[in-house]
Amino acid sequence: MQVSETRSVCCYCGTGCGVIIETVGAKVGSKVGSGETAKIINVRGDPDHPANFGRLCSKGASLHLTTQRTGRALVPELRTSRAESRVPVSWDTALDTAAERFAAIIKAHGPDAIAFYISGQLLTEDYYVFNKLARGLVGTNNIDSNSRLCMSSAVAGYKATLGSDAVPCSYDDIALSDLFLLAGSNTAWAHPIVFRRIEDAKVKNPELKIIVVDPRHTDTAAMADLHLAITPGSDVILYSTMLHVMLWEGLVDEAFIAAHTTGFSTLRDKVRELTPAAAAATCGVAADDIVKAARWFGQAKAPLSMWCQGLNQSTHGTSNNAALIHLHLATGKIGQPGMGPFSLTGQPNAMGGREVGAMANLLPGHRDLSNAADREELAALWGVPSIPDQPGKTAVELFDALHEGKIKAVWIACTNPAQSMPDQTKVREALVKAEFVVVQDAYADIETATFADLLLPAASWGEKEGTVTNSERRISRVRAAVSPPGEARPDWEIAAEFARRLGGKLGEKLGTPKVLPTGRADDTANRLFKFNDAAEIFAEHVGLTVGRDLDMSGMSHAILEKNGPQQWPFPQGAQGGQARLYADHRFATADGRALFAPLTFTLTAEATDARYPLRLTTGRLRDQWHGMSRTGRAARLAAHEPTPRLLLNMLDIERRGFKPGELARIKSRRGEIILPVSPSDELKPGQAFIAMHWGARSLSHAGVNQLMLSAFDPISKQPELKAAAIRIEPVELP
Ligand code: SF4
Repeated sequence: MQVSETRSVCCYCGTGCGVIIETVGAKVGSKVGSGETAKIINVRGDPDHPANFGRLCSKGASLHLTTQRTGRALVPELRTSRAESRVPVSWDTALDTAAERFAAIIKAHGPDAIAFYISGQLLTEDYYVFNKLARGLVGTNNIDSNSRLCMSSAVAGYKATLGSDAVPCSYDDIALSDLFLLAGSNTAWAHPIVFRRIEDAKVKNPELKIIVVDPRHTDTAAMADLHLAITPGSDVILYSTMLHVMLWEGLVDEAFIAAHTTGFSTLRDKVRELTPAAAAATCGVAADDIVKAARWFGQAKAPLSMWCQGLNQSTHGTSNNAALIHLHLATGKIGQPGMGPFSLTGQPNAMGGREVGAMANLLPGHRDLSNAADREELAALWGVPSIPDQPGKTAVELFDALHEGKIKAVWIACTNPAQSMPDQTKVREALVKAEFVVVQDAYADIETATFADLLLPAASWGEKEGTVTNSERRISRVRAAVSPPGEARPDWEIAAEFARRLGGKLGEKLGTPKVLPTGRADDTANRLFKFNDAAEIFAEHVGLTVGRDLDMSGMSHAILEKNGPQQWPFPQGAQGGQARLYADHRFATADGRALFAPLTFTLTAEATDARYPLRLTTGRLRDQWHGMSRTGRAARLAAHEPTPRLLLNMLDIERRGFKPGELARIKSRRGEIILPVSPSDELKPGQAFIAMHWGARSLSHAGVNQLMLSAFDPISKQPELKAAAIRIEPVELP
């Protein structure tokens, strides 16, 4: 049997590993209704991809086991009233109905009465079209991404300190570093191939030190030279106390600070009072260990910090990020090989979404919505009268506005907020209250699809063309190896087709001259969304980056085909991308100086107390991804952890009269769920852990996010999905 090979990228974490997809049968593209004879039979690591050099983790190596049709959305489905079930309809009926409903709401209530909630799982080209649809055609900034739950604190932290949302490091720095600070990241499970590279570095250089900061003694912490099991939420205090020690012991680089930064004297005054003894009590770790961590960091030649949700998912996530970046600025350890602050992206294309500006407060090409010149420039580039200046609703705000009836219709693409958002009861009520809910997804059996008035079948991994950007700013081509099943279509194609129809509907209703409520002529839609393929979208996207810090105008799908994955910046005429940023220590601020940002020195939004005495944290498992819509279909992956559990220290289990395996009613101030308790020596007494993956699809309740609170960081608007106060009670069986 003839086996064909297609190079693409794993669709899970932000490591962005290259894969080779093996198929049998006729190799086809991603045209609607084309043959479905090709079948993915295997996936192996791409030895030439610079993210992984042929390696894959258990999830990536099982991708071919997750491509079955079971559970897939195959045809558009529509319901005309909430009392009825959805029935199959044609694409024309589906998109015309959506355009009519959205146009009517826009006409009656204005553009801000609708919203788009999209995903870091989308390809850059999908992201770009949705963003243009919302801001360029409809005239609303109500477009946000599930990256809000994942990376927005890193975006805000980089901007607050380095002046731009640009990760300055590369994976190649891993082999060149002599100290790793892994913070709020179970890298061994969440970014396994990055972790393999760290392990390799440790083998090659036994002197290399690893500090892990995590409340839990994870597999990552198990290989640390120093594990700081901090109290959740005490990150800013820890890093600022490390800075205090570095100042006291002369480990900061005063010349670098004077020449390349602003704001240090204010921070110096603040951290002066943060003694290790005081911080030890707050952070729950030994003062000597804080001193040791500060000395190791300050004495390292090339410290590399990597972090993820433990820092980001916090009501002071921006400060968490900034406090850690401050350590690099205070020591001048940034911009050279092996060193720097390197945030790991959770999703495969969180970075692409940041580049195209598909989040409520961003605009394409690292432009800012709050900047009038940026808005005017973008409007001119798109050929539209203006970009609205009203801030858009971020994830929690968006579902709150839906709940309050201020937003009346929502379009949800490639994400599952009925499982992934905090305070699930409210989010689900919001989806019920909405006048019209469109869900565009590859899977018909995700929790959010239950609320869809219109379900649109989308192509998935292995079935569509485009690009993604991984954690190190590297853009790779994603390729179709097989046709989408049934009538599923690529996401950008659905969005563009809807946009053209929406433009027509809005124009018709307003008569001649056909002007939309937002001032767009009705032929604007045809002009704005005249894309024939993903390569054309990418070309337009990179054109908007000319002269900006992320300039990638030298890239095209053709260049990526020819030269393989490339990092930005990559301006026109360049022979390749740039591995490292800020080598000249000139940062992306107006005066080129990095900033020591103001910090918030608080703990978690919700403290434990007598009624809710346990601190709950959440996180990923090694072999599952997000809400398991894909990984949940592979038995091999389920074997690692078949069912959800509440992990507790054995002391807490015994103290409350439970036995391991017994069911507990787990209550927070927002809801309750029932799970078996299980002892874990990864946790200190008073701590609890539940994996984030399970939801109503596999349980009788909405999963752990039923318990979590929606309080968010006032700058990044990222909710505190990592921490809540809970108690447990026995379950009385009938
Ligand atoms: Fe996929 Fe991430 Fe595993 Fe690489 S490390 S194979 S990108 S899940």
